[in-house]
Formats: sequence, C-alpha cells, structure tokens
Amino acid sequence: MTLPAGEPELSERLTQLHGLGQIREAAESTKVYLVGGAVRDLLLGTRRVDVDVAVEGEIEGLVLRLGGTSVLHERFSTATVEVDGLTVDLAAARSETYATPGALPEVARAELSADLGRRDFTVNAMAIPLQGEPRLIDPSGGLADLEARQIRILHAASFVDDPTRALRAARYAARLDFGLEAETERLVRQTALETVSSDRVDAELLRLCAEPESAVALELLASWGLFELDSDAAARVRSVTDLLERPPWTQVAERGLAVHAAAFGRAPGAAGRLRNLLEPARALSAVAPEKPSAAVTAAADHTIIELLLARTMGAEWLDRYLAEWRDVRLEITGAELLEAGVPEGPAVGLGLEAALRMKLDGEIEGRDAELAAAMAAAAGRG
Ligand code: ATP
Repeated sequence: MTLPAGEPELSERLTQLHGLGQIREAAESTKVYLVGGAVRDLLLGTRRVDVDVAVEGEIEGLVLRLGGTSVLHERFSTATVEVDGLTVDLAAARSETYATPGALPEVARAELSADLGRRDFTVNAMAIPLQGEPRLIDPSGGLADLEARQIRILHAASFVDDPTRALRAARYAARLDFGLEAETERLVRQTALETVSSDRVDAELLRLCAEPESAVALELLASWGLFELDSDAAARVRSVTDLLERPPWTQVAERGLAVHAAAFGRAPGAAGRLRNLLEPARALSAVAPEKPSAAVTAAADHTIIELLLARTMGAEWLDRYLAEWRDVRLEITGAELLEAGVPEGPAVGLGLEAALRMKLDGEIEGRDAELAAAMAAAAGRG
C-alpha cells in the first residue's frame, strides 16, 4: 500500500480539518505542528474530530489569541480548544525521561524532534508543520510502517519505560488491523505490567475496551501473555458488544465498562478489584422466573452491568425486564393508603408491594384495583 504523503495531498487533507487554519493564524511566529494520531489518520484518510497540535514555545499567548472556549492546564502546558467543530489538544513540545521503569516521566520543554522521540510507536511519531508548505516530518519511519501495516516501537526500552504502551499496541493493532513488527512483538511479550500502578493500567484497558475491535485487542493481550482471560471471556465480550447494539440494551452502559466487565469479571479501579461481577450474573442467569413479578424481584438488586452479563449467559427474560417490567409503577402512593385508613408502619409497604406484584402479573389494572389490592394486602388479606 502506498499512502499519499506528498505536499499536494497533505495540503488537501489539512484543509479538511476545519479549525486548523485558525490555529495557524493565531500561532503567528510560534511554530505549531499537527502530531500523533492525527497525522497517522490523515495519511490513512480516516476522519477525526479531535487532533493534537504540538507547540514549540509558549502556548498561553496562542490560547488567548484563539479566544473561544478553552481549558488551559498550566502545570503540563497543555490546553484544549474547540475551533470550527474540531477539538484541538495543544501541548508544548516536550521531552520525557523515565527515572525508573513504569514511573511517570520527568517532563521538560523541548523541540519537536524530542517530542516525537518520546512517543509510543512510529506511526504515532510523525508531524506536519502547520506553517509553510506542509510536509511530513517522519524521523522514525512511521510512513513506511503505516504502509507495511505494522506497529513498531521507537527504541528497545519503550515497553520498559512505559508498560501501558503494550495495551496501546494491542488497541492500535486491533483497530487498524495491523501486525506488530517482529522485534516489537518479541519485546511486548516481556512487558512487566506490574511496574505500573493498576489505575494507569485500568485507564488504558478501559480505552481499549471502549473500541469496536476490543475483542481482538483483548485476545492479542492474552496471546502475548499479559493477561489471563478465562475460556469464555472472548465469547462474553462479543456477546456484550452485540447486545449493546440492540434494544433494549443500547445505551444502558458505557461500552468500555461493559466490555471490561465481560473480559475480566470486574469493574476497573480499586473498588472493582474487590467485587466479582460474574458470580452474581451467573446466579441471576440460573433463575427462570415464572412471572414478571418474580423477574423484577430477581433482577432488582443487580447493577446494569450484572444484568448485561447475565443476559449474555442466557437470561433472555431480561429483555422484557428491561423493556417493560423494570419501569412498571403503581398509580397509587403510600399517602393514599394512609388516607384510606392503613396505619403508619410496615403495612403500607407490604400493601404497595403486593399491589405492584399483582399489577406486574396482569392480575389487576387501574387505580381502583390497585387501591383495593393494596388495602387487602395491608390488612393481611393479600
Ligand atoms: P486515538 O486515535 O485513540 O485518539 P491517539 O493516537 O490520538 O489515539 P492519544 O492517547 O490521544 O492517542 O495520544 C496522543 C499521542 O500521544 C499518541 O499518538 C502518541 O504519539 C502519544 N502518546 C500517548 N500515550 C503515550 C504513551 N504512553 N507513550 C508514548 N506516547 C504516547
């Protein structure tokens, strides 16, 4: 595959990223470059709504001149601005050095070449200057690797410095349908994820899980020996992602969280590590409720993620629970029961519960019937 990387094609594609013109104007004499994934996707012809721009020098003046909505993160010399529907992450070009494996890097202002040199993979380590004639700055051979459809690290210690790059490698390989260059693949298998805080690992995992090709990415990680996934994990992930595409499951949960739960049986983060989600889901999937009221009782105390997992394990009745039964409410309230003479105390709750059960099961319909059923149950005749 030969990608269009000449000046005319780059110019043409840059103009499609509305908003960059304003950045260029506001930059004045400060040098600004399109960098990272935006360059990769520009070469691949993939549309993006967010791009990274590296700035050689101060970014504050540029941000002020741009006006509009922006968030400036002074400590890291970065800012996010919205221009013409494009989200632009501006960052002062910087170098990063790693004192110990897996530690957060020490950061210093630097020129573009150092900024590109600190990056994860060659395909993400290219830049295009936004001033003057557009040209590809590609010190590590990213274009050739894009054409060869491969992910390659920039230096042998890359996964040692930052083991979360192994997760990023899986994410990009799956998303782009790329392979890993041979030495990169040898080294990725040696990644010591345990040198990084589990929060950072989880944050990258969540990004991976949120992608359409997450099942492939997770299988890659498992094949490199970085995570153990049980034999059903891949099937669970695929069925959770299928479920999230069809009613009534669309939008019930964030894709990343749902896929993470399907793969690892837990939520991300410290709290997630304490709670296994597969067991309650399995228990729920073993329930075969005979009536809607029994379904509501069985499902009520479960989180939406547990419901999703239980559905992937075969609990088809959860479709109706989610679409219909979950939202069934009584027309009457406890206050009405009190008004009608039910004494304050547990009888009110018992009455309402009984009426809701009967309504769910189609035994009663309408306000009067609800009241009668609740009164009877409250009086111990339900
Ligand atoms: P996406 O297409 O998912 O938005 P992206 O390539 O823009 O991906 P980000 O995670 O937003 O990725 O990071 C922006 C750029 O910063 C990357 O392209 C890469 O060059 C660099 N980068 C991000 N994380 C790392 C890391 N852990 N190590 C080195 N470079 C990184």
